Amino acid sequence: MKNSFKNRFQFLLLGLCGLLLSTTSCQRSSNKFTDKTNTPTQSVKMSDIHSYAKPQEAVVKHISLDLDIVFSAKVLNGTATLTIEAQPDAKKLWLDTKDLVITSISSNDGPMKYTLHPADSVLGSALEIDIQPTYKKIIIAYHTQPSAEAVQWLSPQQTAGKTHPFLFTQGEAILTRSWIPCQDSPGVRVTYDAKIRTNSPDIMALMSASNPTEKAADGVYFFEMKQAIPSYLIALAAGNLEFKGVGIRTGVYAEPATLEKAVYEFAQMEQMVSEAEKLYGTYAWERYDLVVLPPSFPFGGMENPRLTFATPTILAGDRSLTNLVAHELAHSWSGNLVTNATWNDFWLNEGFTVYFERRIMEAIQGADYADMLEVLGHQDLNHTLDDFGRTSPMTCLKLNLAASQNPDDAVSDVAYEKGYFLLRFIESRIGREAMDKFLVAYFARKPFSSLNTEEFLTYLDAQIISKSAGKITLEEVQEWIYKPGLPATCIAVKADRFTAVDAVIAEFKTSKTLAKETTTKWSTYEWLHFLRSLDETTGVETLTKLDATFSLSNSKNSELQFAWYEAAIKNNYTAADVPMKQFIVQTGRRKFIAPLYKLLVEKRGLPYAQAIYKEARGNYHFVATNTIDAMLGVK
Ligand SMILES: [Zn+2]
Repeated sequence: MKNSFKNRFQFLLLGLCGLLLSTTSCQRSSNKFTDKTNTPTQSVKMSDIHSYAKPQEAVVKHISLDLDIVFSAKVLNGTATLTIEAQPDAKKLWLDTKDLVITSISSNDGPMKYTLHPADSVLGSALEIDIQPTYKKIIIAYHTQPSAEAVQWLSPQQTAGKTHPFLFTQGEAILTRSWIPCQDSPGVRVTYDAKIRTNSPDIMALMSASNPTEKAADGVYFFEMKQAIPSYLIALAAGNLEFKGVGIRTGVYAEPATLEKAVYEFAQMEQMVSEAEKLYGTYAWERYDLVVLPPSFPFGGMENPRLTFATPTILAGDRSLTNLVAHELAHSWSGNLVTNATWNDFWLNEGFTVYFERRIMEAIQGADYADMLEVLGHQDLNHTLDDFGRTSPMTCLKLNLAASQNPDDAVSDVAYEKGYFLLRFIESRIGREAMDKFLVAYFARKPFSSLNTEEFLTYLDAQIISKSAGKITLEEVQEWIYKPGLPATCIAVKADRFTAVDAVIAEFKTSKTLAKETTTKWSTYEWLHFLRSLDETTGVETLTKLDATFSLSNSKNSELQFAWYEAAIKNNYTAADVPMKQFIVQTGRRKFIAPLYKLLVEKRGLPYAQAIYKEARGNYHFVATNTIDAMLGVK
């Protein structure tokens, strides 16, 4: 998932962060770690405190969905048929569910006995099913509830076209259980197929699977995902969608009102896939398509295999924010091919992905461009570390979450950017050539599997550290992973294109004027660097002048809008209020709206922020409301 430029706000729940960990220091779980000869543990044997599943007894291997989308009732209704593999003495199959209404469970032998346990507010309800050795397939008839946390139902008014309803799901981290009964742990992988009825000839359904390119007159769609994936990557979208190819194996889905703009914006997709393959090996998922969702999507993008789900806030009109596509594409290797075994190992997904994303952008846009992304990432990381406090356990790469802590609440720049800088540190010691060789081998080592931090360290030690003749030590890497803060071994960052902007900023601090000619060659990132320098002391008069020259309040670039509205709120520049409120109400992307609400509370007071939220909340996905409810005291 992409929260790029994720800022210091993460996590707003900062006040809660001290509570997020069950211990006060980064805990090292040392299983297998010192045993260099050990091969990775089978993923199904890993324990995941965020799942009730016991895959070591009986594991789900395949899910076959047969679901109706009922827009009027906001429910998905039908069956999930699970193909299982059980140990000879297994008596139970344990599944994760949340707010599902189960109507029957049967096997090839008829109805089965089951217990739906009382619900936990984070984990949901364990579904315990009595099984016999002869049971191979289990059919669960169920429907979801309108409140299903993964599923967002949008009225026509909330879409770009305003004519048809829309639905999308967001499974990461532990939300898939709210629409599919499954073993909802990243350590368990399944293949799946699905038959989905949209009940309208105008509504196309799409999944993280083989997809249609035309609408079906009967509204019935068939899907197949042949590669085994963790449940958080099972995803569904449905709406008035159309398809247009971008390259041989790449294309874009969007509402008709957005399609042409999206095709222009994502024209480099095919090149990105080729560059990614040159770096780390063959793309394993056949097609790489992207669907542009309505603005309420809570993330920048979600790496659902074969079909990235993306926010429309990256449609800047000048292809300047498409590093998000590079990020989601990179997940086709880091995350989707090799996955974190538990949410405590989340950095394995995101740290590698940010590294890979920047390598793709470097290949396409040049090193000076990638340097800017790196410097911005470094700024974000330092803000996050300062917010948490540099001794906070939340700043360790390996987390130690309790079952009562939603892993989504623990997502921060630490996983993304500290993870990235660990890989840059390793690269700086062993050289880029050796780094790339290592990464190719790492992705090819056991594709379609999950591993934890300790298994990664064992592998790194065997492949790199022990052969490095002292260039890099295990203790140095352990410090990055198990100690809080930023190690002194972090590389220095510098972007020449920002050095040029720094000179402009220094001049601006005294002159309070920025000439249009100065900025003609600026990319989004030079602008961001400049806008981030506008602090509380800038003043209304200066902002007024900037706005008059560059029309920043009415920018169509979401990253610039966000940075500008932050400066506006800090300086009480009320002339930006109308577009700022409109941006907050219409955009569901958490990385933008959460920091803006936080700043509004600080500068304008809680009632002001609550009033905007009252208007906006219905447009947001659970992932966003879960964060902002807590911040604004909404029950
Ligand atoms: Zn990501």
